[in-house]
Amino acid sequence: MTIPDLELYCPFSDRCYECCLETEMPLAERDITRIEKLGFQIDEFLEEQDGFMVLRNIASKCFFLKENRCTIYENRPEGCRYYPLIYDLDTDEFVIDDLCAHVIDFDPNIYQPLHEPIRYFIYMLLSEKEIREEKTREEKRKREKGE
Ligand code: SF4
Ligand code: SF4
Repeated sequence: MTIPDLELYCPFSDRCYECCLETEMPLAERDITRIEKLGFQIDEFLEEQDGFMVLRNIASKCFFLKENRCTIYENRPEGCRYYPLIYDLDTDEFVIDDLCAHVIDFDPNIYQPLHEPIRYFIYMLLSEKEIREEKTREEKRKREKGE
């Protein structure tokens, strides 16, 4: 599965793009592969933040936001497809992000079918982060040994 079967279509996306400003959206490896296939270079649309690979902002806007529209909408990252529904790892709860411009217009309870895909997605991000960090540690060890 490279694009989730289920997603949350934001009914305000034709007139709102708040979540595409100063985004910190993390991408999974399968997102990165899919977007690279569109002809984009990793360095231009991604940056590393606390071990996660997140969308790069240009002048406080997501790299892919042009004229207030997402230019890769059909291929946008998995996290963008679930937003504004987010998973709180500490409480194991699904909530509407209070940074969403229309937070009061969404009812998190009606998005039950998205809970498992989102939970899976979050654990995948954490696992990929751990793999990247282990790779970095291994490369450092090799450098220190002069291998
Ligand atoms: S990829 Fe598209 S939907 Fe996601 S933050 Fe960027 S512009 Fe917005
Ligand atoms: S900020 Fe909220 S309402 Fe606006 S586009 Fe994003 S998800 Fe939709």
